[in-house]
Amino acid sequence: MLNNKYCCEKHKNKAFDDFLKEHDTFPYIEKVSSGKCNYCDDDASFVLKITKQMGPSELLDL
Ligand SMILES: [Zn+2]
Repeated sequence: MLNNKYCCEKHKNKAFDDFLKEHDTFPYIEKVSSGKCNYCDDDASFVLKITKQMGPSELLDL
């Protein structure tokens, strides 16, 4: 999906902020073992997805 944002450990806070600005909603965050960070060349640790559910993700303790 186009709205997915991949990020490494270092960039998860930035990705979270950008996601909030772009989508005006909280992302659903999943751990991933493949993919590249959208902000650097590291392997991604997380993917932020737009979710159909309203309300914050359960994984907000970033
Ligand atoms: Zn990164």
